[in-house]
Amino acid sequence: MSTTTSAQNPMNPDRTADRSTGPSAGVAGPRHFLSAVPEPDFSSDGGRGRYEEALRRYPGQAIVDLRAMRDNMRRLVSMCTSEGSHAAVMGVVKADAYGHGLIPSALAALAGGATWLGTAQSHEALLLRRAGIGPDRCRILTWVYDGARVPFDELIAADIDVSVGSLPGIDAVAAAARRLGRKARVHVKVDTGFGRNGFTPAGFDEALRRLVPLAREGVIDVVGQWSHLAVADSPDVPEFVASTDRQIASFHDFTRRMSEAGIAPRIRHLANTAATLSRPDIRFELTRPGIGLYGYEPDPAMGRPSTYGLRPAMRLQAQLSTVKDVEAGHGISYGRTYLTPDDTSTAIVPLGYADGINRAASGFDMQGARHVEKPGGPVRVMTAQGLRLLRVSGRVCMDQFILDLHGSASELGVREGDTVELFGPGRGEALGEPTADDWARAADTISYTVFTCLSNRIPRLYEHAPEVLDDGDLALLDPDTIL
Ligand SMILES: *Cc1c(COP(=O)(O)O)cnc(C)c1O
Repeated sequence: MSTTTSAQNPMNPDRTADRSTGPSAGVAGPRHFLSAVPEPDFSSDGGRGRYEEALRRYPGQAIVDLRAMRDNMRRLVSMCTSEGSHAAVMGVVKADAYGHGLIPSALAALAGGATWLGTAQSHEALLLRRAGIGPDRCRILTWVYDGARVPFDELIAADIDVSVGSLPGIDAVAAAARRLGRKARVHVKVDTGFGRNGFTPAGFDEALRRLVPLAREGVIDVVGQWSHLAVADSPDVPEFVASTDRQIASFHDFTRRMSEAGIAPRIRHLANTAATLSRPDIRFELTRPGIGLYGYEPDPAMGRPSTYGLRPAMRLQAQLSTVKDVEAGHGISYGRTYLTPDDTSTAIVPLGYADGINRAASGFDMQGARHVEKPGGPVRVMTAQGLRLLRVSGRVCMDQFILDLHGSASELGVREGDTVELFGPGRGEALGEPTADDWARAADTISYTVFTCLSNRIPRLYEHAPEVLDDGDLALLDPDTIL
């Protein structure tokens, strides 16, 4: 198979930077670099300065478009308030907002109409409140903790809703509420078939025996009932749809048991992004989309983001390090899993697995008797001859990986300092722009891991922040990150 795809469109609008006088220019005048990405939409000259500073600080950047994120949330909210639905929407911002940055993403979700935020870890829920996102703005729910040590006192005091899905969890939250003299808002987690946290149908009577007196006494307020779906991302697979239907039936049964016990939940929630997009019948009072906020469908089998009016919010780009010529048959990187098929040039992308580039996205092309071929992760590179989609050649190292340019760098006009794109919004097939789904495919994983594993040493820079956020919210962002 061929590892290169040249760009089809010579009038490419992305061709924002070019060297008009050829690769040898730039000695005297300002140096120009080829760029496979459009220039960010700067909100001010200050934004441009901060961008250039970020490039000097680190040779890779995650550019997050807050307008895309706000619009994705608007889209999800409009779905949940049409087609017979009247559901509120929770922006799930766990894991540093899937690697997009907790506070900016939370604020963009609120700007798009989310009225809830959700985090797995209680620490992140507290960070949201400490940043100044108060109960007047939104409710916050958190659900992963060790019931013996979680700071329930702090959570209750910060007006954060907590999930309870175990007997020790009930006891601990009740004890904290009594100490504080303040009612704890709880969402009862039920296991309808996912097999993770929550009460099973068999264990639920015991849970009700503890919850009911606490609710009567006013120690806890049973706000919600919730559960999680296992296979909602495969709406075309009949066995999976049947399995989701069984989870829904079980969910209804739990609601009945709560109601009969006198603690009917006011807010039921079950739908993740997949179910929010594909099952309007189970939006209940609240939905919990995560990946949709960041602009992706949960599984490429469901289509592309644009199928649902979503737009990926993150672009990952890097500036090339060493570019050089090598001969045919040259081993590339650890293990010699890639041997250059021809005389060629290589370029180093200075991001590696310590940055969160999955080592499983390494590219193999071993010639000879033991021929093994496996395409690596895709990288979009601008050349003097147009855009090329190249692939990781050889093993991903800790801080860098290598691209076989499949041609001479001087003829291609590719130089150290050029900006390449690992993934972006995927603006149309013709532009050949990879998405996180393409990296997921190359590493045999899911897009979720592509963002959440990006390490903190890659700066996150925000586009369209002043457009999306009011002055008060804007002041909550690290000023160095605003483009
Ligand atoms: C992560 C998570 C979600 C969001 O899932 P997506 O597939 O990203 O929409 C919803 N609910 C719970 C309990 C989660 O852990």
